[in-house]
Amino acid sequence: MNFSEIGLGPEVLRAVEDAGYTQPTPIQEQAIPWVLQGRDVLGCAQTGTGKTASFTLPMIEILANGRARARMPRSLILEPTRELAAQVAENFETYGKHLKLTMALLIGGESFGDQIKKLDRGVDVLIATPGRMIDLFERGNILLSDIKIFVIDEADRMLDMGFIPDIERIVGLLPKMRQTLLFSATMPPEIKRLADTFLMNPREVSVSPPASMAETVTHALTVVQPEDKRKALRHLLGTEDVKNALIFCNRKRDVAILHKSLEKHGFNAGALHGDMPQSKRTETLDQFKKGEITLLVCSDVAARGIDIAGLSHVFNFDTPLHAEDYVHRIGRTGRAGKLGRAFTIANPEEGKQVAAISKLIKREIPLISIDGIELAEFEELSDRRRRRSRKDGDEAKTASSNGRQPRAEGRAPRPEREARPEREARPEREVRVEREVRPEREAVRPEREVVRPEREQRVEALRSDAPPRRDDRRRRRDDDDDDEVVIGFGDHIPAFLLRRARPVATPEA
Ligand code: AMP
Repeated sequence: MNFSEIGLGPEVLRAVEDAGYTQPTPIQEQAIPWVLQGRDVLGCAQTGTGKTASFTLPMIEILANGRARARMPRSLILEPTRELAAQVAENFETYGKHLKLTMALLIGGESFGDQIKKLDRGVDVLIATPGRMIDLFERGNILLSDIKIFVIDEADRMLDMGFIPDIERIVGLLPKMRQTLLFSATMPPEIKRLADTFLMNPREVSVSPPASMAETVTHALTVVQPEDKRKALRHLLGTEDVKNALIFCNRKRDVAILHKSLEKHGFNAGALHGDMPQSKRTETLDQFKKGEITLLVCSDVAARGIDIAGLSHVFNFDTPLHAEDYVHRIGRTGRAGKLGRAFTIANPEEGKQVAAISKLIKREIPLISIDGIELAEFEELSDRRRRRSRKDGDEAKTASSNGRQPRAEGRAPRPEREARPEREARPEREVRVEREVRPEREAVRPEREVVRPEREQRVEALRSDAPPRRDDRRRRRDDDDDDEVVIGFGDHIPAFLLRRARPVATPEA
């Protein structure tokens, strides 16, 4: 199919042509006609598939007719991170350049003043992160009663980040008569339930992860002791023909440490993580996109969905905790048929994570050794269990211990540990103690004590018939809190979880 046959008007088609695209991608081909017809759409697609244009193009077409009133945006797009929101805004600028649409980007870390001024003038498209959206609503700066099109993008990532309660709240503020589009890279049961609640008779469209990733990216894995990881990375950076690279760490504090280390060794590197001020994040990303910075050390959340043309390498300085994150990370390279290279530097404890990745991507990642660094082996699971049970025993014996595992015999000392002061300084035990010494907090909320068990039972009952949740996933509050763990919905029980599909019939006495 050609773009000209998909139902878009001449102005949008001209902008698409200016961008150099001639054919819609599969997700665009499937979704655009339904969106143009005003249908709700449930899209299963990840970044890299052309998913963003699959909703921005038809939205521009629909919104080209009509005008926005002050403080009453006509469409709303929710994105999990500021960077993704900014990327969607760029899409509107690119494809809407021959039309007069107004747009506002509401993201945390930027001044309220400018955002409010724009809203006051009236906007056709509002792109926001959920937290900032709610802040502005509560300040009385937005009325959502004129929203005609509502988009929830990256829904599974919203779930991971603990945004679902915010989204529920926002949906409650929208008019019932609207068009809703929901996109997600994966469809866990929680997202299916959300879709059942928020969408009306949606058309389901789905594309598999971009095949180009599998075909054009060369994967490699090395296993080294933790203290050798930085040396291994430097070696790879020195021997690979790196044009530009994203280097992923699992924790934002490690992003900062690795960034400093690379700079100290003379590499042209920048850092991107949720603790940085937004202005710095934007500036760093711009520099990276322009090629002024060659290496960008980043966390998953901050770099989620970032689209860098022609990225030559991705390095996993830490093995991702969740196999899907591997796909997201590696998907940054090898785009549009270009070649890409992806290296994972695992430590011996990460065998299980690597196995989960291999299972997901349906292939073994070839193992490589690095000159001058001893290739380590993955620890057997049973070894680890044995050590863990020994550790539990030790903990029981020494109540004053900070709960850390004694080092495995024969293992070299870990100088890298020095580089993790915060982690060391926050043993789990301390957190528990802190809770115990706050009885007054408990005392001011007695009603919660009473309500909670019942709520939990209801949720458990509802969950028990659902397929297993990805309970081991780290749920984060927002992109400023990469390290924050949010379990499930926290204290909030979303209404859709409490709704019964069918009342249970009781036999008459
Ligand atoms: P996305 O999945 O929205 O992150 O898009 C991934 C990349 O595909 C972006 O760089 C887009 O500019 C690009 N793209 C979007 N639509 C097309 C298309 N029809 N043909 C080729 N590339 C496209």
